Amino acid sequence: MEEAVVSKNFIEQIIDKDLAEGKYVKIVTRFPPEPNGYLHIGHAKSILLNYGLAKEYNGQFNLRFDDTNPTKEKTEFVDSIVKDVEWLGADFRGEVFFASNYFDQMYEAAVKLIKKGKAYVCDLSADEIREYRGTLTEPGKNSPYRDRSIEENLALFEAMKNGEFPDGSKVLRAKIDMSSPNINMRDPVIYRIARMTHHNTGDKWCIYPMYDFAHPIEDAIEGVTHSICTLEFEDHRPLYDWVVSELEYENPPKQIEFAKLYLTNVITGKRYIKALVEDGTVDGWDDPRLVTIASLRRRGFTPEALKKFMELIGVSKSQASVDYAMLEYVIREDLKPKAKRMMAVLDPVKLVIDNYPEGQTEEFDIEDNPDDPEAGTRKITFSRELYIEREDFMEEPPKKYFRLFPGNEVRLKSAYFVKCTGFEKDEDGNITVIHCTYDPATRSGNNFTERKVKGTIHWVNAADAANCTVRLYENLVDEEKGKLNEDGSINFNPDSLTVIENAKLEASLKDAVPGESFQFIRNGYFCVDSKDSAPGAPVFNRIVSLKSSYKPAQ
Ligand code: ATP
Ligand code: MG
Repeated sequence: MEEAVVSKNFIEQIIDKDLAEGKYVKIVTRFPPEPNGYLHIGHAKSILLNYGLAKEYNGQFNLRFDDTNPTKEKTEFVDSIVKDVEWLGADFRGEVFFASNYFDQMYEAAVKLIKKGKAYVCDLSADEIREYRGTLTEPGKNSPYRDRSIEENLALFEAMKNGEFPDGSKVLRAKIDMSSPNINMRDPVIYRIARMTHHNTGDKWCIYPMYDFAHPIEDAIEGVTHSICTLEFEDHRPLYDWVVSELEYENPPKQIEFAKLYLTNVITGKRYIKALVEDGTVDGWDDPRLVTIASLRRRGFTPEALKKFMELIGVSKSQASVDYAMLEYVIREDLKPKAKRMMAVLDPVKLVIDNYPEGQTEEFDIEDNPDDPEAGTRKITFSRELYIEREDFMEEPPKKYFRLFPGNEVRLKSAYFVKCTGFEKDEDGNITVIHCTYDPATRSGNNFTERKVKGTIHWVNAADAANCTVRLYENLVDEEKGKLNEDGSINFNPDSLTVIENAKLEASLKDAVPGESFQFIRNGYFCVDSKDSAPGAPVFNRIVSLKSSYKPAQ
């Protein structure tokens, strides 16, 4: 077997070097979500990257909730995140870590800094702290509280913890350098007073650590070696390093940044998705038009396809948007050998075969999946009245239209040739019935070669067709017209959802179960919706059409 030579990404190169230099013995990575919303495809990238590295290096992957900011956090989000990480196959050994479980250690760490003269209690207001901080071009100036004694700081910090001061009246700050060119190093706040009930620790604490202080401690406690995050934290790295170094951790973790994943034509970003959910633009966090992991799962994406997608796009330090068509490409490739090919008519019109005996039904064998050598065949029923797609008939066809029109003959897939003899219309001029005759000699399997036809169309037997709801999706945002309107609001695609109430499907599809995926011949891949389906009444979501605008690089 040929083995693909894949060059290592920049993170693997760093890890290889660290291992070669003996910096770490076992690689430990983590995914640290804040439980303030559902995860989206960008998080999937981070999960698969972190988990993939742990696996590649025989190390360990931790799932840790970064729940240091109690106001926005909810248990619903914790549960959904655990489910998503499991679904993606990132093994966290069933062990969930919470930053809030380390609040005692964080408090001790703060005390340690105070004792080293590296942290102080500051009474400046939030506005004053901002004023004193300086700007990108001007240095900051020292807080008048900067030179409090260690004893005073210890006593004040303890009093802060004990609830002796009102919210916002004092903070604990790291004592670093008010003239540092990096604003994050200008005596950043590391603890604040805020009386908030925490979903895990309840009312035990009225002081909470700030992210930049808490995160490196969480990593160090868990023995994380490579703390992988996105580029916006690059300027925070010196502070990360300062924290782990001042706290004197052995083999401290190191932070590595990579570029966030953005996709065209969809909304990424938890805040934006949350707004769409809250204002009812979409039907919940798992609306199939979103790219939350829950939406992708509901839409019919598979973990394998998402893994493949992440491999294709790779990891880098430079920001770019990935074409949504690439995501469609991977799910098509994934489903091609897996999904059964089914007959399904989405926009039905009756086809009557006038010379076919009334009351007669016969069966045809049809291949389950020509792309899967293991797949078998199944029976489909055929009789005098069928449904075909409305677009497969034209009264007055243009040139090169090879489907049904008066006088033309086509192949009904896996059945007979039929020739159009006429049609009926209602008062409004809509075609209601198409008439044809069939030629028994052309029966599928007969190896009929006397004449050829150019068009093959799919059909469903009217007598036993399943009537189902089928939903077609388009992108939520149409970037061709510009993602934003002039007033800054999002330019939504008005056609992002089309609901077909009475599609006519091959009879066996009545029994399809939530999560099951199929190819509807010529119409795309469809998945049974997990929310709106009932036994015997599946609702189908189109995952992706069959046409591709994406060509993979060779
Ligand atoms: P958002 O930017 O959508 O609000 P977030 O970064 O606030 O997300 P967190 O829960 O804080 O969400 O993130 C958990 C992890 O996922 C972090 O390590 C973060 O860097 C990573 N992450 C978030 N968005 C993306 C993305 N688009 N691509 C890759 N990784 C991401
Ligand atoms: Mg965040």
